[in-house]
Amino acid sequence: MLRRRTACDAHLGAWRKLEPRSKTVPPDPTLPFEVLRPDLPRGGFRAVLFDFDGTLSLIRRNWQNVMIPMMVDALSATATRETREELFVKVEEFVMRLNGRQTIYQMMQLADEVHARGGSPLDPLDYKRRYHDLLWEQVGKRVADLKQGRAEPDDWTVPGTRALLTALCERGLSLFLASGTDLKYVRDEAQTLRLGHFFGPHIYGALDDYKSFSKALVIRKMIDEMGVRGEELLAFGDGFVEIEEVRRAGGVAVGVASEEERRAGINDWKRRRLIRAGADVIIGDYRRLDDLLELLGLAVNS
Ligand SMILES: [Mg+2]
Repeated sequence: MLRRRTACDAHLGAWRKLEPRSKTVPPDPTLPFEVLRPDLPRGGFRAVLFDFDGTLSLIRRNWQNVMIPMMVDALSATATRETREELFVKVEEFVMRLNGRQTIYQMMQLADEVHARGGSPLDPLDYKRRYHDLLWEQVGKRVADLKQGRAEPDDWTVPGTRALLTALCERGLSLFLASGTDLKYVRDEAQTLRLGHFFGPHIYGALDDYKSFSKALVIRKMIDEMGVRGEELLAFGDGFVEIEEVRRAGGVAVGVASEEERRAGINDWKRRRLIRAGADVIIGDYRRLDDLLELLGLAVNS
């Protein structure tokens, strides 16, 4: 396969030095692996878009169990007659529907829901700050443990992440990271997991001016700046947005139905949503790397 220069090359020296003592994840051919588009285009990929949380990083796992109860509290404080259980179902639906977009969109929806129940909503930015403070009680400790060497980066990633990124870099593909989390945190957490160097300058996240970032805009940038065609795009994600956008652009989308707590198996709820979004392949993690590369036409001898 023709080797192209990518951002990875510029960081190659640092990359080798930085490589943590990663526990190699043993391949397991019995893991679930579902191909939904058997005739998907193979081998012609030049650029790959990754979502971050739930797709590569597990640092923010359990965020749903922070965001949803916070929103249920805000809605319970209105004059609504709905029970907490009823509110939970409604909140979960819109939180997960908007997952993959920037957090502010979930908070804008919350403000609308409070308003619709006769309450006086806070500014969505204030809801976002409150959510961040609550989430940081868990996430901040994990980041500190990683930075101070009390935890290993590969224990906080989807299994097989490092080997996958290494393989894609070695094949000359350009890697892009795009997350709905605020950019400064995405950068810091990617560095903390020692994954930042795989992406070079191509790390994107939510900005204060929320209209200036979206995954669709990052895909547009990939197409315009790199001159890649839609069908040369590959994406990995555990949320609706990245799958839908890459399929819309004509690329191939791998849905990562990761089980974030157990770090094994398939999360069936994610799986069903990813299929609805148009995923071409469903996997739970990257432990069947050889099979995955083979399927995508990226095996060394394909
Ligand atoms: Mg995600």
